[in-house]
Amino acid sequence: MSQKNYDPIIGLEIHAELKTKSKMFCQCDNNTEGKKPNTAVCPICLGHPGTLPIPNKQAIEWTILLGLALGGKINQTSKFDRKNYFYPDLPKGYQISQYDRPFIYDAQLEVNGEKIKVTRIHLEEDTGKNIHPKAKGYSLIDFNRAGTPLLELVTEPVIKDAVTAKKFCQVYQQILRYLGISAADMEKGEMRCEANISLQEKGKWKYEGNCEIKPIGNYKLNPKVELKNINSFRAVEKAIDYEIKRQTRALADNEPLIQETRGWNENSGQTTRQRIKETSADYRYFPEPDIPPIKLDSRWIKKIKSQLIELPPEKTKRFINQYNLSEYDAEILAGNKNLADYTEKVISELRAWIDASGDSWERQKRKLAKIAANWLISELFKHLNADGLALSDLKITPENFAELIALIYQDKINSSAGQKILEVMYKQGGDPTDIMKDLGLEQMDNSEELKKIIKEVIKNNPSQVAEYKKGKTNVLQYLIGQVMAKSKGRANPKTVAQILKQSL
Ligand SMILES: [Zn+2]
Repeated sequence: MSQKNYDPIIGLEIHAELKTKSKMFCQCDNNTEGKKPNTAVCPICLGHPGTLPIPNKQAIEWTILLGLALGGKINQTSKFDRKNYFYPDLPKGYQISQYDRPFIYDAQLEVNGEKIKVTRIHLEEDTGKNIHPKAKGYSLIDFNRAGTPLLELVTEPVIKDAVTAKKFCQVYQQILRYLGISAADMEKGEMRCEANISLQEKGKWKYEGNCEIKPIGNYKLNPKVELKNINSFRAVEKAIDYEIKRQTRALADNEPLIQETRGWNENSGQTTRQRIKETSADYRYFPEPDIPPIKLDSRWIKKIKSQLIELPPEKTKRFINQYNLSEYDAEILAGNKNLADYTEKVISELRAWIDASGDSWERQKRKLAKIAANWLISELFKHLNADGLALSDLKITPENFAELIALIYQDKINSSAGQKILEVMYKQGGDPTDIMKDLGLEQMDNSEELKKIIKEVIKNNPSQVAEYKKGKTNVLQYLIGQVMAKSKGRANPKTVAQILKQSL
């Protein structure tokens, strides 16, 4: 049976560390980056007997904020539960998590125009970290991370392909960062993604909600596999794609599939068995006796709601409608909050400039916004990426950037001059018109100087001129190139072509 006879059924489970000041249930510093192992700990996060956990209010408010951002419902009476299991990095022998009353349920996240249902978002504490020194016969444990507030988001198994799964994780990261609640860096483990995936024969199953699919008739559902150790967006896509192929092949060869956990191996590009999956009953959940249920009254929720801001999916749509940007450009520019704010400042400067010039913004906005988007995405980011810098490190003010765009728009400079000016602005800031004059980069347009250069080029290239006159029109490009070189790149190639054609 070939792959096209199966539906891939994919669900995601994403953990994200909240960047609160203190940990989830104690006063320990939650920012442990660069700290020596086991220095950001106290009896509470080390699980000493007799200590009492006190929930972090900020962490709860951020969870609600995220839930509201994703259109979720709020359990107005929520509670924490103990999830019991043994592992060396879990000092208490249980994790404080949430079982049947998560803060958020029935939410959704829009990916490529499709609303993906989010079953729940709950709050729990992170574990410590096991460290295995190379070629040593022992392991070490760093408890600095133990007790860090951790969000867990679970989607319904409604994702149909690896690309959508990856995009979901990317959009979710953007939203966490927009809200300023998590750094959500996958490479640093601040955001961790797991996927579950099964293949079912087309037409033999139905989606029932509540994370469940049911067989139709006497069809027997194929078991699902849980994928772990996915440390990048690329790995999300590759691991799921690999697993779809592996399961398809196994089904075609009549090999039995089992419910299991498999780990993604980045080097080999394969998934390998980690363990046969336990069920949730193994955790023997029960309500955390040391933390009373948490009541979220409507006044508190209203206060949190007032902190909501426009998020990347809506911003992308608005950029498309308001500025006539392409979907591709709008998605990139809206994907990062600082970049989106910067873009809007640049565009508003351009608009003020066009209005003042007596032209109509509505008529020119498509062209202006497109030039601005190109120069932000291609040219500016070339510099930032090369230096590993963020937009917040930028020395160029939106006013000056807008002025550079205006110079390009008016053909006062050509694009190679624009790049030179941008480079100076990037290094030391400054006004692009001043830099243009300092560097003598003003475009030669219809000037006597330009006509002189063209005359010279025609005089010095008699054989090319003769060929052109015989009808070999592609020689024109060569002559334009000569003029550009003689003008040190300052000539406007369009004008050069015009004058050349007339002169010849
Ligand atoms: Zn602590």
